[in-house]
Amino acid sequence: KPSEPQAVAEAEAEKERPIASEPLLSVRNVERSFDVGSQKLRVLKGINLNLYPAQLVMLRGRSGSGKTTLMNLMGGLDTPTKGEIFFKDRPFHKWDDDKRTVVRRKDIGFIFQAFALMPLLSAYENVELSLRMAKTPRSEWKERITSCLDLVGLSKRMHHRPFELSGGEQQRVAIAKAIAHKPSLILADEPTAELDSQMTAQIMQVFKEVVATEKISLCMTTHDPTIMEVADHVYEMVDGVFVAN
Ligand code: ADP
Repeated sequence: KPSEPQAVAEAEAEKERPIASEPLLSVRNVERSFDVGSQKLRVLKGINLNLYPAQLVMLRGRSGSGKTTLMNLMGGLDTPTKGEIFFKDRPFHKWDDDKRTVVRRKDIGFIFQAFALMPLLSAYENVELSLRMAKTPRSEWKERITSCLDLVGLSKRMHHRPFELSGGEQQRVAIAKAIAHKPSLILADEPTAELDSQMTAQIMQVFKEVVATEKISLCMTTHDPTIMEVADHVYEMVDGVFVAN
């Protein structure tokens, strides 16, 4: 039985949590190694992280520290060598790729450094593609596409194709595309790496709004130590572990 001061401290800690206290995603004692030739390369060395609904977290660390490796595990693109990963209580670490893919398609959105838009399609059509893939009923497309493009501030650029948009605008289309099918989780790997500081600040602001409006959880990586901090929590990663920040 915990002592009284300890029980009080635990109750206080509980209060600090966001309203929904069940984590959306739970990473427990996760390790990931790769076989490189005859060597075993230990990339993640015991990672613990809880991501709550409508929370924005940032994984920050130098290139090579293991951020992408962790993000791939969180999104069910890869499985850990050791440890557990639960997404909405589903044990990703035990599931095969087919099973994880079903969840991924429906409930996780990805954003990449290089925007990953279809070059011949307009902003509108790029977002539409995401709804088509997610099998969202066609009757809902127009309203959803318009509202997503509006949320990222691109209502006036709906019919522009990627080459007719700035880097920051292209990344905003990618955000609209990632949120269109209403996933619970967005994973953004170095989403601002190719943007200048002004565009980066805009994207961070858009992320903040998306999390608040859509109640989506968002986890992004960055190697930029000067990035504007809008995150609810920043995890500093050094050589496969989190260090205090
Ligand atoms: P970051 O995203 O922080 O730059 P990564 O997670 O991409 O770091 O990579 C961390 C380390 O893991 C790097 O040294 C990289 O070479 C290694 N690594 C990542 N994926 C693999 C793989 N599939 N096979 C072998 N080594 C890998």
